[in-house]
Amino acid sequence: MNLARFPRVRLGHMPTPLEPMDRLSKHLGGPRLWIKRDDCTGLSTGGNKTRKLEFLMADALAQGADIVLTQGATQSNHARQTAAACAKLGLACHILLEDRTGYTDAAYTQSGNVLMDKLHGATTSRRPGGADMQAEMEAVAETMRAEGRKPYVIPGGGSNPIGALGYVNAAQELVTQASDMGLRIDHLVHATGSAGTQAGLVVGLVALNSGIPVLGIGVRAPKPRQEANVLALAEKTIAHLGLPALVKAEHVVANCDYVGQGYGIPTQGMVDAVRLLAEQEGILLDPVYSGKGMAGLIDLIGKGMFRPDENVVFLHTGGQVGLFGYPDAFGLAGDLPR
Ligand SMILES: *Cc1c(COP(=O)(O)O)cnc(C)c1O
Repeated sequence: MNLARFPRVRLGHMPTPLEPMDRLSKHLGGPRLWIKRDDCTGLSTGGNKTRKLEFLMADALAQGADIVLTQGATQSNHARQTAAACAKLGLACHILLEDRTGYTDAAYTQSGNVLMDKLHGATTSRRPGGADMQAEMEAVAETMRAEGRKPYVIPGGGSNPIGALGYVNAAQELVTQASDMGLRIDHLVHATGSAGTQAGLVVGLVALNSGIPVLGIGVRAPKPRQEANVLALAEKTIAHLGLPALVKAEHVVANCDYVGQGYGIPTQGMVDAVRLLAEQEGILLDPVYSGKGMAGLIDLIGKGMFRPDENVVFLHTGGQVGLFGYPDAFGLAGDLPR
């Protein structure tokens, strides 16, 4: 795998740290827990979309785009990081925000990621929940082209074979880092949504013959659909890399038991996980992705899925800015913090 063959702009601070979580490991009495800090990629408070955008934005520049168009939920971390990448590279940015939760309070609709989208100079427009967002973007792009602009359309979450290269690269980074530290990684766990993170990781880890299994904790789709989405994107990414068909269905595992009532709707497990990491490790998770991912990991530890001598790495995909969109979930609105 030679990722240097693919155009890339540098947007993030990498390698991100790989750190032990000693207090949490002790508290849970489970395996040895580690955290890969992709919340520290640096661009506009960081997160996993930055790695994908390094390849996507390079493609946008190569195609001579003058505006980037993307979409996400109202509190999309992908939208924020795309807006910041556009600011850094001097491109205009328009974001379509889908109202997936139906929340109308000012914190959710104006603060957190929405505030930062605007600070980075992006323009936004809203769409109702359940809209065909890819079709909505194509329609906006068509109008822009008719006006003589050159839009570059990034799918939701930056999840296509170009964006997924960011996580093929992250897999290489993680394997190198672990071998430098003499760390045998037995499991890698992270929150999975639009599938690019898991697809890229699976491709990278399988191509390197790392033997490290990946477990995606779903935040939206049911398990069969999530696994099918990840596998399909992994296959396309393998083809984009020019590798033989290495990835098999058994390499793609998602557990979607921790979604709760739906995407972006808080669960008690998420609230407990966010509080626990804040109090035990001084680490902030987010309400939509990493909080539910960690809730899943904690529950699976309790169910005995891992041996005490195993090393389990949680990939922190970022999103803390979203906490400011959810003050009520933590009982902080009008209430004294504990
Ligand atoms: C987008 C996102 C994810 C999920 O990554 P996908 O590549 O969309 O599956 C996880 N965590 C956070 C914080 C995100 O913003």
